[in-house]
Amino acid sequence: MNDCIFCKIAAGEIPADIVYDDGEVLAFRDINPEAPVHLLLIPRRHIATLNDLSEADAALVGRLYLAGQQIAMELGVAESGYRTVINCNRDAGQLVFHIHMHLLAGRELGWPPG
Ligand code: 5GP
Ligand code: ZN
Repeated sequence: MNDCIFCKIAAGEIPADIVYDDGEVLAFRDINPEAPVHLLLIPRRHIATLNDLSEADAALVGRLYLAGQQIAMELGVAESGYRTVINCNRDAGQLVFHIHMHLLAGRELGWPPG
């Protein structure tokens, strides 16, 4: 039994504000946004962390970024700017163990992160 929250969102078992779905990559609004635009992009297939990617996933990772680019353009933040982040494990603050790319935009984002 898969009790992964993002698998459940991908399966439609938990509601989410989905903004993009190409059958392989899904994007939805973060429930606790840190910026005016805060989306999470996930592969439908369950992969726990960046560490669990293999050579066979290279195209999938590329699709995550291309989906992010497309969404940023559609939301009108591609030129003003946006940040994509994948947190991996404890020190990066990963809380959900289904790989996800944060897409943040709509305000000036500080760097480096705190
Ligand atoms: P992480 O810290 O693992 O990189 O980020 C997990 C993100 O998932 C957090 O920003 C959190 O707000 C978001 N999140 C956790 N549970 C849910 C949920 O049920 N729905 C949505 N839309 N976002 C969630
Ligand atoms: Zn999952």
